[in-house]
Amino acid sequence: MSNKMSVTTKILIAMCLGLIAGSLINAFAHNIEFVQTYLVNGLFHVIGAAFVNSLKMLVVPLVTFSLICGVCGIGDVAALGRVGIKAFALYIATTGLAITLALTVAILFAPGEGFEQVTGTASFTPKPAPPLTDVFINIVPSNPVNAFAEGNMLQIIFFVIIFAIAMLMTGDIGRQLAETAEKLNEVMMKVVTLVMDFAPIGVFFLMAKTFSIQGIGLILPMIGYFSVVILCLLLHGLGTFSLLLALFAKLSPWVFIKKMRPAHIFAFSTASSNATIPVTLQVVEKRLGVNNATAAFTVPLGATINMDGTAIMQGVATVFIANVYAIDLGLTDYLTVVGMSILASIGTAGVPGVGLIMLAMVFNQVGLPVEGIGLILGVDRILDMVRTTVNITGDATVTCIIARTENNLDDKVFQNPDAGIITEVELPHKS
Ligand code: ASP
Repeated sequence: MSNKMSVTTKILIAMCLGLIAGSLINAFAHNIEFVQTYLVNGLFHVIGAAFVNSLKMLVVPLVTFSLICGVCGIGDVAALGRVGIKAFALYIATTGLAITLALTVAILFAPGEGFEQVTGTASFTPKPAPPLTDVFINIVPSNPVNAFAEGNMLQIIFFVIIFAIAMLMTGDIGRQLAETAEKLNEVMMKVVTLVMDFAPIGVFFLMAKTFSIQGIGLILPMIGYFSVVILCLLLHGLGTFSLLLALFAKLSPWVFIKKMRPAHIFAFSTASSNATIPVTLQVVEKRLGVNNATAAFTVPLGATINMDGTAIMQGVATVFIANVYAIDLGLTDYLTVVGMSILASIGTAGVPGVGLIMLAMVFNQVGLPVEGIGLILGVDRILDMVRTTVNITGDATVTCIIARTENNLDDKVFQNPDAGIITEVELPHKS
């Protein structure tokens, strides 16, 4: 058991060590050129980025094979539609809850009131956010090969579902293909495990790089905003989701949180729901006992359209900037923020920092100064790491609820503390 636990424990230790090493460099060696050039922007950057690439490398093939298995596993189009509608409705509902909670808590604590704004510190030029009409049009790929090449998740999901439905309609040929997809899926899951073997090293360098650049000192002047976002993320991540899990999935939130740990660590260190998909899928299927038929569909969809943590940041940021600039927001403005944040969450791909770009869209709608985003930029990376963790917890929670209602959750696997534990892979060798 202790040996089996080792990979996750090792990753956790690597994460803490990376955090400490990075913070030490930030505090004592931030102006030593050698350290910056060869360590932070050299070794740390190269290994960290290569590790994130190795995770992203898994996403497209894994989602493809796993989704084919999922659709063929569900077996009929009506059931597929039902799962789709449930997923969409639950993802929107949880994001709605998240943004409402964020606005309520932020209005209560009023961060940013009396904030001494040093003139000239706020500068932010947002990259243009895609128009919402395009978000919907672009769900349909005009060229699936392009969609796969670019890793456009919504387009891939759309194409693979249609392809898999066609497989269901072609009888024997489709069935043979499905068997092949199942084998390929199994192999891809093994590739995930292989990549995980390098995770302690990758996570260490990722954390070391982030915290060498992102000193704790940046947080202090923004402590009001920072703590309200963290408070809301904790309330939603531990409170709302636990309640939903206990009520609708009849599952123990405690076991759920414990088993989600590997996915949490990856989301936190990569700040990308998309790059975390392989780990989330593995945890949800092998550790929490959700059948591939549900998880293969709801996890990648959630990583793309469900971002409760991001919506929370946007809610608190709106109240904060309104307070800093002493702009009064009325009920209509708040309702607009709720609607826009939900839409922004759908339109935002799960990659680092993208939540800020969509925040510009929210600000434009309610007439807040977009350059105000410059104020919160400094602390955004750390908040991004925490909110991504909340984002993927939301995906897993909704997946468990849907799996329960579809009778696709194996309670024996969920209850078994050793189920699907990530162990070190023994490489094959000739004896
Ligand atoms: N990094 C977030 C994610 O991947 C998105 C964001 O809030 O910027 O889930």
